[in-house]
Amino acid sequence: MAAIDVDETARRRKRRGNEALLGQTANESSLTTVNDEPLGFSCECGRVGCSETVWMVGSHFQQVARSESVYLVAPGHCADDEHVIASTGGYLLVGPETHAPSPNNLHPTAA
Ligand SMILES: [Zn+2]
Repeated sequence: MAAIDVDETARRRKRRGNEALLGQTANESSLTTVNDEPLGFSCECGRVGCSETVWMVGSHFQQVARSESVYLVAPGHCADDEHVIASTGGYLLVGPETHAPSPNNLHPTAA
């Protein structure tokens, strides 16, 4: 019994919106510097009616967004058939497999 009905279309729309937010912020500050401030991204759980805001550092989201199967969701918004890949107090990263970025990989090597 699926507790959460994930709407893939809504989810992808959220992802595009989040990517736009990231791009917007990058343009406002600098074209080459990714914002290291936490940004208010939309929860990508895909649940109908979900309007949660998830705070994540912009450069970390950029890493997450490289994988089309990994999504940023609010705590407790993981669907039954998904795995929690990373968990912090403020957000979860969920995906179908455990191959996705580990928390360590979310921190790019300092230049
Ligand atoms: Zn959600």
